[in-house]
Amino acid sequence: MKRAMIDPKICRNCDICQVEINCPQKAVIREEAADKPWIDFYHCRGCMKCKSFCKNNAIIEEIKPCDGKFAKSW
Ligand code: SF4
Ligand code: SF4
Repeated sequence: MKRAMIDPKICRNCDICQVEINCPQKAVIREEAADKPWIDFYHCRGCMKCKSFCKNNAIIEEIKPCDGKFAKSW
């Protein structure tokens, strides 16, 4: 399961985050204007379009195991 993540060490906290504006799933969250944005894994679809939206290359690709992998077997 592929998901995008914003690397907080690279993100420059732009006044206008192009990832937030352009994500087709509206998966980017910024609770306060001064906060760095982050990506909500539940809404992100892993399309990775955001890689081209962020000119600072703050987007990294995460591979998450599907939930079933950790399901208990009793
Ligand atoms: S455009 Fe990139 S560097 Fe700027 S706030 Fe958004 S994720 Fe961070
Ligand atoms: S991978 Fe796609 S859905 Fe996820 S944050 Fe990036 S643009 Fe949005």
